[in-house]
Amino acid sequence: MANPRLQIRSTVTSRRPAPTSEISNLSDVTEHFNEFYAKNVFTNEELQRRIPKTIFNRLATHIQQGTEVDEPTADVVAQALKEWAVNKGCTHYTHWFQPLRSTTAQKHDSFINFFDKSGKKRFEFSGSELIRGEPDASSFPGGGLRSTHEARGYTCWDPASAPWILEETNGNTLMIPTKYVSWTGDALDHKTPLLRSVNALSKEAVKMLRLLGDDTTTGVQSTLGCEQEFFVIDKAYYTARPDLIATGRTVLGAAPAKGQKMEDHYFGPLPPRIMAFIQESEQTLWKLGVPTKTRHNEVAPGQHEMAPIFEESNLACDHNLVMMETLQYVAEKHDLTVLFHEKPFQGVNGNGKHHNWSMATNTGKNLLNPTRDPTNNLSFLVFMTAVIKAVNEHSDLLRASVSGAGNDHRLGAQEAPPAIMSVYLGEELDAIAQMLHEDGKQLLAANDNPEINMKLEAQMTKCVSVLNLGEGLSPLHRDRTDRNRTSPFAFTGNKFEFRAPGGPAPVSHATMIINLIVADALSKMTREIKKKALDDQAAGAEYKKASIKAIHQVIRTTMAQNYQVVFNGNGYSDDWVKEAESRGLPNLKNTVDALGVLTKPENLKLFSTFKVLNEAEVKSRQHISYEQYSEIVTIEADSLLNLVRSQVLPAAFKYQKEMALSLSAVKQVTGVQDRDQLAYLDQFCNMVSECTELVKSLAILLETPASEDPEAHAKFVRDEVKSKADQLRFVSDRMETFVEDNLWTIPKYEEMLCLK
Ligand code: ADP
Ligand code: MG
Repeated sequence: MANPRLQIRSTVTSRRPAPTSEISNLSDVTEHFNEFYAKNVFTNEELQRRIPKTIFNRLATHIQQGTEVDEPTADVVAQALKEWAVNKGCTHYTHWFQPLRSTTAQKHDSFINFFDKSGKKRFEFSGSELIRGEPDASSFPGGGLRSTHEARGYTCWDPASAPWILEETNGNTLMIPTKYVSWTGDALDHKTPLLRSVNALSKEAVKMLRLLGDDTTTGVQSTLGCEQEFFVIDKAYYTARPDLIATGRTVLGAAPAKGQKMEDHYFGPLPPRIMAFIQESEQTLWKLGVPTKTRHNEVAPGQHEMAPIFEESNLACDHNLVMMETLQYVAEKHDLTVLFHEKPFQGVNGNGKHHNWSMATNTGKNLLNPTRDPTNNLSFLVFMTAVIKAVNEHSDLLRASVSGAGNDHRLGAQEAPPAIMSVYLGEELDAIAQMLHEDGKQLLAANDNPEINMKLEAQMTKCVSVLNLGEGLSPLHRDRTDRNRTSPFAFTGNKFEFRAPGGPAPVSHATMIINLIVADALSKMTREIKKKALDDQAAGAEYKKASIKAIHQVIRTTMAQNYQVVFNGNGYSDDWVKEAESRGLPNLKNTVDALGVLTKPENLKLFSTFKVLNEAEVKSRQHISYEQYSEIVTIEADSLLNLVRSQVLPAAFKYQKEMALSLSAVKQVTGVQDRDQLAYLDQFCNMVSECTELVKSLAILLETPASEDPEAHAKFVRDEVKSKADQLRFVSDRMETFVEDNLWTIPKYEEMLCLK
């Protein structure tokens, strides 16, 4: 029988780029871009055109204040929304939500009222249907928040993220972004805590802005731009790899000779089939109002990146999910498969998803943008210092926010930042931070000595003048600050770039943590500033002046207390691991260790103080994460075991037999036994024995009953199952490089990764 792997190889090499089915006339995109862009989104403008102004304004107030929309308002919106959607061919609508698992969820209902009294079949949609849905929730992860007898879960409309239309071959569906909560109101999804954290950050940032003399800003948003990395392989290879289907990564496969050596794939020309696929994806995404801007090849062969322009974080999170779903959907049409997993292929780089994060006022000002205006620079320094304090004080939570079985392959593996969270500032900003740090140390030691305060004012002018350096160009030009790829949290000119999240991660999770910890840092700093200013006022100073002086002081003392988290060196080096340890920075090497920190009393308090997650919600999330870790590692080990038993060992046995037969045939003819050849056979036979031994012991481990305690089970899986599976993979990969190519049935790395 022909080798299926070789058959696939010949099919794949004959494939050509597929034309886009998205638009027939390319000039439509360029000439009519304004009509084309977001044409399948129920935009604010569309809504405004269709409903009375008073209702529109009422809705806007609900969105701004984060309050639930009342039913009469929702009725009017629902009517307008239905008319728009039905006009565009939608027969169905769905609440689209983000349960605590890797994929989004949807349950479609048709608009059709089959039993209208008039006898006519009408398309209807009410405010209550828009506001709330009640999917049977018993099969979504609840982590103990819902017992089966009260398994109701509610999807609640998120009016801040516009509905859109999903066009599919046989009809269209209206997608309505929603939160997902239990009947007691506890969050069961990723979106709800994100929205709560957005509110918390806004409140604290506005308080700080007031101290800085800003009386006009009424809200602050976090902004987010996600760079999405992914691999693309031919679908035929994907379907021939049960491990990829089950786990999203290859659990075995020998590294190809070249791999990503020479790094000639990075920014190279996009292969024609990939280009065709990405172009169609972009066109689909533009129609959905997702502002994708950048596309390029990434470091590993077969790896690419797409990035949109940043948006308000709730919208950016929804759009990242839409982007991932669209890429997967469009890939099908091109006989391709997209892999977002953090490590689909061992030995080459994995997929990350850099979170570019900042804060912007509702008056349009980026709070992390250093400017040449000294007044604004004070504001910049406050917010920048708050971020440093946030990362230093909560580096454990930040680390936990990117945990997961997949990311354990990336963090600390010399391709992504280490598991130690630190901040990179770049040379110029670091010079300023160091000055503040030195001042702060003296201030703390001298306990508010007035002489030091004099010096403080002088230093501030110096500091501002450093920021003012250079004609025409801001001295903190991003190109000069963003060249340390080894840092998990890097300042990149006017935003921070969090580089630890993995490719498939739900963006809202890490963003929620960043919002929360920065809100906490701002809150503490505001309180300290107010206290100092009041003390000064009591001693006769004018309050406004006293508060500006207090801001200068608090920036410095905060920097002094938190500067230890700043690291501008090589985050991949062993020296940094030692140095970080001496600085007391946590190094939570794997998911199981990282998840433990979620329920530390101070972290539970932090979540509840800012009303982002209550204790039960945090515990349920931790529980679910432990379970997911164990399940993923177990499925991977099972998948490996099956592949080795059903394909690797049968090929190895055949090869062993063929080799033995041919050696004895040679001996018969020549009368002598070649010692080197015998040793070669012997070496291979040893590998096969080792492999069969490992198969036996891994099978026993996989049959061991799981502990009731999810943490204990996760530890067992990490220490026993995963390490045994790693050993088995190692020997199987070695065997792959020995076995005759014709006998090997599993698609090889060099085939999967060389798509043209
Ligand atoms: P690089 O690969 O050099 O890090 P990219 O251009 O691929 O940069 O991505 C940078 C991302 O940062 C883009 O999504 C961009 O829109 C986003 N970004 C720029 N400014 C901000 C900001 N103020 N807040 C959040 N994200 C931002
Ligand atoms: Mg990029």
